[in-house]
Amino acid sequence: MAWTRLAPVLTASDADEQARRRAAEMDAADPLAGFRDRFLPLPDGIVYLDGNSLGRPLRSTLEVVAAAIREEWGQGLIGSWSEWTDLPRRVGDELGNALLGSAPGEVVVADSTSVNIYKLVMAAAAARPGRDVLVTEADNFPSDRYVLQGVAQRLGLTLRLVPADIDNGVDLADLAAALDERVAAVCLSHVGYRSGALVDMRAATQLVHDHGALVLWDLCHSVGSVPIDLTGARADLAVGCTYKYLNAGPGAPAFLYVRRDLQEQLSQPIWGWFGQADQFEMDDTYAPMPGIGRFQVGTPPILGVLAVREGVRLLAEAGMEPVRAKGQALTALAAELADRHLAPRGFRIASPRDADQRGSHLTLAHPEARQLVRRLADGGVITDFRTPDRLRLGASALSTSFTDIVEAVLRLRGLAL
Ligand SMILES: *Cc1c(COP(=O)(O)O)cnc(C)c1O
Repeated sequence: MAWTRLAPVLTASDADEQARRRAAEMDAADPLAGFRDRFLPLPDGIVYLDGNSLGRPLRSTLEVVAAAIREEWGQGLIGSWSEWTDLPRRVGDELGNALLGSAPGEVVVADSTSVNIYKLVMAAAAARPGRDVLVTEADNFPSDRYVLQGVAQRLGLTLRLVPADIDNGVDLADLAAALDERVAAVCLSHVGYRSGALVDMRAATQLVHDHGALVLWDLCHSVGSVPIDLTGARADLAVGCTYKYLNAGPGAPAFLYVRRDLQEQLSQPIWGWFGQADQFEMDDTYAPMPGIGRFQVGTPPILGVLAVREGVRLLAEAGMEPVRAKGQALTALAAELADRHLAPRGFRIASPRDADQRGSHLTLAHPEARQLVRRLADGGVITDFRTPDRLRLGASALSTSFTDIVEAVLRLRGLAL
């Protein structure tokens, strides 16, 4: 026993010990440290740096969902729909208020991000008749690009791609060059999934508006990691998922935002009974309800919506300013350690260097990234691989410690010897 305790002290270099000590001090001084206990514990020996793909479960979610099954569903049976019907809009309001800078009645929890992109891009294209171009960034998330390709083909529009640097994201000058009076809608990711590059939402929205087009923001990698002000940016439309930094679980429903003054101008393409004005009148013809509810389609996944609410409430309790500050400190520590320990072993930082210009993950490029991610995982450190040669270190401010970052970097160095 004594030997296993002593071994790391004898073999680790002074620099490693120093890094570990410093991380322990940062953890001790971290005002958000207490939030780590609000999550279900990890299996022994696991370091989890993939919350940007699948956030960890909250203890409270397990209780709330179990209670809803036992009581609302088990006892209340179908009568509970009186409570459930507008839950996606109530949780949408909480989410919008805590995380998006939107007004009540502008956000609803519904469907998946991909489906919501389809609904809103189709609606935006129809709202700009005569315009025949859709725009997105060349390095946008695959589903965004595929949905836009499909919409463009179906409607006979052209999809124009803004070139994007795979380390640093979209340059606003390139966006400006892609815009003209033919453009109906522009779909951009606020934080790039590969590099973590953060786009200036206000400036980009202004550029799109200068050309009379509508902008759709994909917030998947920024919601819950970066403060968002949709109202301040005058954003038109937005979507985002809830299973990354919102910790709502695999397949938890996404959300969508439509600015209040656009809601009655837009018509989404999937006319379902949950968007209908008098749902239970079972009318012969579709007449969408006023407001954000018309962007719903079918029966909402209530248990998933409850999980979204838990994730939103935890972030609201923590506050997005401290969450952002810690996210930046975590990726800054990762960048500093990567420069010192990993650059000599063939790694290169493939995210913006300035923490203000990136979200909450740091991407490293290495020719053997794919194998390194697998071998790291074999040793209990979970990160993820992204093409062509990238490893992402995801920092979730409420569940990731500074010690996690140091452990991941030092293990990676050991593997890349
Ligand atoms: C995760 C992610 C998605 C996921 O879409 P789903 O429909 O939930 O599978 C879409 N866009 C971006 C930018 C993402 O990061």
